[in-house]
Amino acid sequence: MTSEDLDFDRQHIWHPYTSMSAPLPVYPVSGAAGCELQLNDGQRLIDGMSSWWAAIHGYGHPQLTAALCEQAQRMPHVMFGGVTHAPAIALCRKLVAMTPPALSRVFLADSGSVAVEVAMKMALQYWQARGENRRRFLTLRGGYHGDTFGAMSVSCPDNSMHGLWRGYIPEHLFAPAPTCRFEDTWDAAQIAPFTQLVEKHRHAIAAVILEPIVQGAGGMRFYHPQWLKEIRTLCYREGILLIADEIATGFGRTGELFACGHAGITPDILCLGKALTGGTMTLSATLTTGEIAKTISDGEAGCFMHGPTFMGNPLACAAANASLDILEQGAWRHQVRAIECQLRNALLPLQDHPRVQDVRVLGAIGVVETRTPVNMASIQRAFVTAGVWIRPFGRLIYLMPPYIITSDQLARLTSAIAEVLTRDDCFQS
Ligand code: PMP
Repeated sequence: MTSEDLDFDRQHIWHPYTSMSAPLPVYPVSGAAGCELQLNDGQRLIDGMSSWWAAIHGYGHPQLTAALCEQAQRMPHVMFGGVTHAPAIALCRKLVAMTPPALSRVFLADSGSVAVEVAMKMALQYWQARGENRRRFLTLRGGYHGDTFGAMSVSCPDNSMHGLWRGYIPEHLFAPAPTCRFEDTWDAAQIAPFTQLVEKHRHAIAAVILEPIVQGAGGMRFYHPQWLKEIRTLCYREGILLIADEIATGFGRTGELFACGHAGITPDILCLGKALTGGTMTLSATLTTGEIAKTISDGEAGCFMHGPTFMGNPLACAAANASLDILEQGAWRHQVRAIECQLRNALLPLQDHPRVQDVRVLGAIGVVETRTPVNMASIQRAFVTAGVWIRPFGRLIYLMPPYIITSDQLARLTSAIAEVLTRDDCFQS
């Protein structure tokens, strides 16, 4: 890659959440293997991000690569309207088998945000078919569900800058973010504002949508499983659907295969994405119950009104099948437990650092929340110089490494975090 290439990148290519007038630097990467990214200049960085929750088995896993190559030669893509194929059938079989028994109908789409749109649309069509005018969604502040309009409308109004879209996105209902932490003693008073919102709007709410246990991009917070249990009970009692967005938490990241497992609950609609293909291809799945699928199908439209061009993409399905095969072998359980244990030992002592507001660890997720926001360009440079790939945002420095990370590699990541905390240039004052 030449310096002209990088100039072109800077002038013409959007990167996520960065200005085109004064873009943050980007680091040219030429390869990725195991738990390392390789930069163009040959430097290797230990990956603490799993490419945003996705690359759970690391990069270049031979089973994933073989599945992709084999499927690429056979049939990388074919439309899903009017045809079907073995990779999609195998994948949906696996998803139905590994999720709670009630979730037996699968819609395959192309990204996490689209899975959320699909889930919301399912809920709306369900109530339309039942002749009830329910159009509002109830969610928790501090959540994040994606960048498309429906998903934004249920993401935290502050983080998603709802002010920018006033009059354009529907106004949904937001209960206060849970503050009772995962390991705290349950405080039953917490749920009261949520219950009040349900009671006030009970006939207008189509569904509750939330990220179970871990609020990810909205703040990296872990809340008490009893929250989820109470919400599940309330939704059953009031006849409101419950959508669980497990796009980030699914496939073992929190220590349970799905985060709903911490509370032993089954949602009515479940969104999966990110790690579904082991981080190789973009693919998502929205699962629901037979009853919801039947109600939608028997309604006025006669079908579910969605069908993306790349629905059920065979290449992505083949990768997902390989990734789920690896998960089925079960090593993830002790890998995630070992990561959790090491993250606790290495990160919790940072709690006493004057720059640190809070430290929290759950499963293979470690979060150091600082008192002031990071200085993005400097901290990124400091991490790269230390040989690690960690990408903080705001006041959050966090790790969610591939499950196969070794303890030496993980120690490099955690010491890099401890090291940057000593540097004034890495933080805004
Ligand atoms: N839901 C959650 C919980 C997520 O973390 C994300 C992505 N960060 C999404 C939805 C959106 O997924 P995608 O970026 O694939 O559209």
